[in-house]
Amino acid sequence: MTTSATVPATPGTTATAGTGKLAMLGGRRAVPRDLRIAPWPQVTEEDRQAVLDALDSGRFTTASAGEQEIPGLEQEWAAFTGTRHAVAVSNGTAAISLALGALGIEPGDEVIVPALSFIATAAAPLHLMAVPVFVDIDPRTYNMTAAAVEAAITPRTRAIVVVHLHGLPVDMDEIGAVARRHGIPVVEDAAQAHGAEYRGRKVGSIGAINTFSLNVSKNLATCGEGGLITTDDERLATRALMLRQFGELIPGRGERSYVSHLLGWNNKPSALQAAFTRSQLARFPAEAAQRDTNVRALLDRVAALPGFLAPGAPEDRTHAWHILRFRVDPAAFGLDDHLAGPLRATVQRALRAEGVPAAPYQLMPLPAQKVFREKRGLGGYPWALPGVPERPFREEDFPVTHRVIDDSFALQKAHLHPGAGPLLQRYADAFEKVWEHRDTLAGVAASLPYTHPWEQAAGIAATEWDTAFGTGTTEGTGA
Ligand SMILES: *Cc1c(COP(=O)(O)O)cnc(C)c1O
Repeated sequence: MTTSATVPATPGTTATAGTGKLAMLGGRRAVPRDLRIAPWPQVTEEDRQAVLDALDSGRFTTASAGEQEIPGLEQEWAAFTGTRHAVAVSNGTAAISLALGALGIEPGDEVIVPALSFIATAAAPLHLMAVPVFVDIDPRTYNMTAAAVEAAITPRTRAIVVVHLHGLPVDMDEIGAVARRHGIPVVEDAAQAHGAEYRGRKVGSIGAINTFSLNVSKNLATCGEGGLITTDDERLATRALMLRQFGELIPGRGERSYVSHLLGWNNKPSALQAAFTRSQLARFPAEAAQRDTNVRALLDRVAALPGFLAPGAPEDRTHAWHILRFRVDPAAFGLDDHLAGPLRATVQRALRAEGVPAAPYQLMPLPAQKVFREKRGLGGYPWALPGVPERPFREEDFPVTHRVIDDSFALQKAHLHPGAGPLLQRYADAFEKVWEHRDTLAGVAASLPYTHPWEQAAGIAATEWDTAFGTGTTEGTGA
């Protein structure tokens, strides 16, 4: 069960000049309450008009003759990313499954994925009955490394899904070299990295076939759910199109044949959502540039505080700043390394009290999610297929992912709006205030009852299951 971390009042805390008492201890917030987070995605008059025009057109899906918004979005996104083909789909998770399906991934094939990502990255191969094989991450970029990928390759490996986590591109040249040496295609899951560049190329234009999400939480959003696939390979694009619509080959003009050549899904996008995203895309470059300015101004101030490891980008790539992850450094707070987790929990709490919505992003490594760890969802398959090796989850295989989940917190969404600059300056004030009170916070951290996030998650999982299905019911695997 979870132990809720209570913060004892610390007697004798004196107000520091300029910043004052911590809000956690009854002081004034660094972020005034009337400074609100602007809603994301922003909906302008142009966006509204674009959706209304699509509505008035009476053409709502790819199957509506003469529909222009979906092919329009596809052409514009292909041009934006510098790829030959783009295929719009119903969401980013479907985009990954379709991309893998287009590559011909089959049951029992292995697909390498990072241990730190959103669940979709690893669920997508599983929907094809492929086996996700997880690799640990780099402690600075939070991305998978070429060395880790190479170590995970087996004769069954059929694809490598790289995730540009939080908006920072992975080292595509290094991973590409490993992939080429083994003849394995790379799929970019760029759901968090719209517009980011690696060595002058946009993400989504480097792997064999690549994916984006247009979920409302992402840097490029639709008014609901959506996704995009990009590729330079015409055959892969055609296969993705087929998988989007029942395995059918859709003619450019003329009658639909209703012949299903492959097992496809129904993952068509909607024209209204395509119209909305096209309208967002028109101002995306300007907004991304403004976001870059706003976020860098925050990060410059946080990076000056020795207690925090702020995100950044190596010289050869840009960061889309989808999520801002900060690690805490226990040594800088005068604490032993084993107190990294309690320190993070304390600092997170202090920042939240100041008005900064610091929160965890992922409570556990992906391979620890029950669906993988307990082989759930497809009646024990694909793991029960002949020849699939046993790979029990072992905490020690993912030391960096565990450490990062323990000692870092994230800022999401609040910084996406291009008008967030002034708000982010108040966030920087809060970080500085928290750092000034580091001795107080170190004292709190050292006395804090602490449960690791993945243990908390296990408690939450059990409680939720019992609430839904009754205490004592077996958590069946479906087998
Ligand atoms: C959001 C996200 C997805 C899934 O996108 P949906 O549109 O929500 O299905 C996949 N991968 C990553 C890394 C994501 O952040």
